[in-house]
Amino acid sequence: MQFVLVFNSGSSSFKFSLFPTDSDAPLLNGVAEALSTPEANMKIVPAEGEVQRFHIDADHQGAIAILVAKLPEFGVNFTDVVVVGHRVVHGGEAFSESVVVDDYSLGKMESCSDLAPLHNPAAVLGIRLIGELYPNLPQVAVFDTAFHQTLEKKAYLYAVPYHLYEQQGVRRYGFHGTSHRYVAGEAIRRLGLPESDNQLLIAHLGNGCSATAVSNGKSVDTTMGLTPLEGLVMGTRSGDVDPSLHQFLQDRLGWSLQKITDVLNRESGLLGISQISNDMRTLVEAAENGNESAQLAIDVFCFRLARQLAGLAASLSRIDAVVFTGGIGENNGGLRKKVLESLAIFGFTVDGSANAIHGKESAGVITTDTSPTRAMVVQTNEEAMIARDAKKLVLGVTDHA
Ligand code: ADP
Repeated sequence: MQFVLVFNSGSSSFKFSLFPTDSDAPLLNGVAEALSTPEANMKIVPAEGEVQRFHIDADHQGAIAILVAKLPEFGVNFTDVVVVGHRVVHGGEAFSESVVVDDYSLGKMESCSDLAPLHNPAAVLGIRLIGELYPNLPQVAVFDTAFHQTLEKKAYLYAVPYHLYEQQGVRRYGFHGTSHRYVAGEAIRRLGLPESDNQLLIAHLGNGCSATAVSNGKSVDTTMGLTPLEGLVMGTRSGDVDPSLHQFLQDRLGWSLQKITDVLNRESGLLGISQISNDMRTLVEAAENGNESAQLAIDVFCFRLARQLAGLAASLSRIDAVVFTGGIGENNGGLRKKVLESLAIFGFTVDGSANAIHGKESAGVITTDTSPTRAMVVQTNEEAMIARDAKKLVLGVTDHA
């Protein structure tokens, strides 16, 4: 059997999944965390069998070696891995699709690093380390931004001096593209829509949240922007604020730009309003127990999402379905109902029992047969999408389980 290793590198961690080349279901996945610190550890979660957690005394390179040495315990030799697929956050305007890594593309990825200084260097490091350890193993880079490169200028330009776009790359790039692409494909398939004639609104609601308008399989508008801070209310990120907020806070509180950026990224969103948690499950529980600030955070989250979805609809000719995905979108029926009720203008009749079981018995659909507009739930699977791209580019395999 042959395998695809999917790699998602962070600055002090990496996540991994191992897919047989003939399946969308991973044989195992896991994470190496706190690398290069005394707390460094690895967790391996096999599809079948016991989860393994253990301390490792390692940096990124050491952790890769440990993972490789562990694989035989799961019946895999690293020599059976035929391609590694990497998640890369920012592809700038250089990448509109996934690519096989070579010196040229790696250089381009590095040049996108100033657009994503926290994320891209880690992905480049992961690619370089694997390249050094296994120079003959093909690697594929899959970009969060690539799916949104089909946006037209009217959708991606900010109304700021044009040279800031031309010379500094200031524009909307959008993120979560791999998830939006996977979910759009799944929705189109399940609803039996023609590949060349479909109109979808997709809400990816995890710790980070973004929504995308998809027309005929292509992203035409999306809520995240130059960075993943723009758009929807998220776990700890504010989403849209008045751009003058920075000046205001500096004048009133003497906060530095760095402090304001940190507050908007790490102390805002659900956490900021509720002052309880960034985790939707915790907030739903607190709200059910009468906590008003938790309820308020949920209300703002839902309203802002509905408002953005309605705005994205401006890019579509009709709505075939609103699709919910991500940890919140897939699991929180109450929230889906609330958002769809806010979008009454489009006419959704939620099927209460289908919504309660997340559409599991109706191909994801959570609205009634007579609902003027459909809504559905699709579980995202970014890793499977990365594995598919890696297989397609390196093995020429396009069919999948
Ligand atoms: P990430 O963006 O890190 O991949 P996830 O997609 O796992 O995150 O989403 C995390 C969010 O999903 C958290 O806010 C979590 O509370 C929420 N979530 C997960 N399961 C449920 C559930 N059963 N009900 C409500 N929210 C849930």
